[in-house]
Amino acid sequence: MTKVFLQRKISPRIANGHPWIFGNEIEKMEGESQPGEIVEVFTHDKKFVGKGYVNPKSQITVRLLTRERNEEINEKFFHNRIQAAWDYRKKIGYTENCRLVFGEADFIPALIIDKFNDYFVIQTLSLGIDIWKAAIVKALQTIFRPKGIYERNDVPVRELEGLEQKKGWLTEPADTNITINENGLKFIVDVENGQKTGYFLDQQDNRRAIRNIVKGADVLGVFTYTGTFEIHAAYYGAKSVLGLDISEKAVAQATRNAELNGLGDKCTFTAVNAFDILKQWGKEGRQYDVVMLDPPAFTKSRENIQKAVAGYKEINLRGMKMIKPGGFLVTSSCTNLVSPDMFLDTIHLAAKDARRRLRQVTFKAQASDHPIIWGIENTNYLKFLIVQVL
Ligand code: SAH
Repeated sequence: MTKVFLQRKISPRIANGHPWIFGNEIEKMEGESQPGEIVEVFTHDKKFVGKGYVNPKSQITVRLLTRERNEEINEKFFHNRIQAAWDYRKKIGYTENCRLVFGEADFIPALIIDKFNDYFVIQTLSLGIDIWKAAIVKALQTIFRPKGIYERNDVPVRELEGLEQKKGWLTEPADTNITINENGLKFIVDVENGQKTGYFLDQQDNRRAIRNIVKGADVLGVFTYTGTFEIHAAYYGAKSVLGLDISEKAVAQATRNAELNGLGDKCTFTAVNAFDILKQWGKEGRQYDVVMLDPPAFTKSRENIQKAVAGYKEINLRGMKMIKPGGFLVTSSCTNLVSPDMFLDTIHLAAKDARRRLRQVTFKAQASDHPIIWGIENTNYLKFLIVQVL
């Protein structure tokens, strides 16, 4: 097996649990290896670090799979890791719908598996994990006897790994619209054409957090996608709910979901650009009891963090100005390069500019089926804040 030796100054970070090894962290490699193959990693002074898969084409040259020298990377390895991920979800109470495997946080770098009752959606986002797709599918079949497994590998990041983008059933073709239950409501998940894996499970607990503040309220939900927060608001007793999204398709899905729950008359969804309409409505003096913001990630690269922060400041400032005194702002950020502290500071600055005072009700991260591993910063990515706007 090829041996990879790390530079002296880098190995402490990796020793502390981080599974990624960048090209410039490697001092030398001994032996020939094919892209995707398993290699052994050592410190500069030849202490064993772990085993992982290599891809010289990727910026992340090696991703570690195990720290045990005698643990073989084979079909059984993937079965055991997926079983362990499932045992963990059962332990913490996420069984019907959950992110079953959250990549690095489940010690299977670059693998994502979402469970939507009897269906599974998988993403193999690096070459080294893509090679094991058959083993992963086999493990899912053995553990769950699922009705279907769908591949959502139409993700640009795969191209950085030299992989093609593709999607489709890995099992017998079935209906790609799957109905799930969440918090007593029904939602249709379009696993073929929906965003990411088709549905954002990471907000499943946070959607319950709006329960009390939306009672009797006029609610504006921005970046609604399938209408999840908005339909929850209607269900929890909002007086009226308006959801906005730039995508016509999302608006159609949200409308269908509201009808599915008998909440069609309370919810309206409209396709607009949020940045433009918030500006306009702010000028017109529109007011709501509750404004909810759940935008897409604003950046994936460090160079654009300041731009992303400016984007958060702008929409939150505009959102706040439209809230009646004593009303609530429900605001999220899924940009992992914007840290929780940075996000709170941004909201604070927006409040100063809007001349409003805030009272924090709740500040949380993603649902616990997306575990956070200390030392792997990008596992702590979702910020969810509710503040009263005074
Ligand atoms: N709240 C949703 C997730 C929202 S994802 C949920 O809980 O499932 C972010 C959404 O923002 C996407 O549906 C995307 O279409 C929408 N979006 C992106 N840019 C936008 C813009 N400028 N104006 C309005 N919507 C936008």
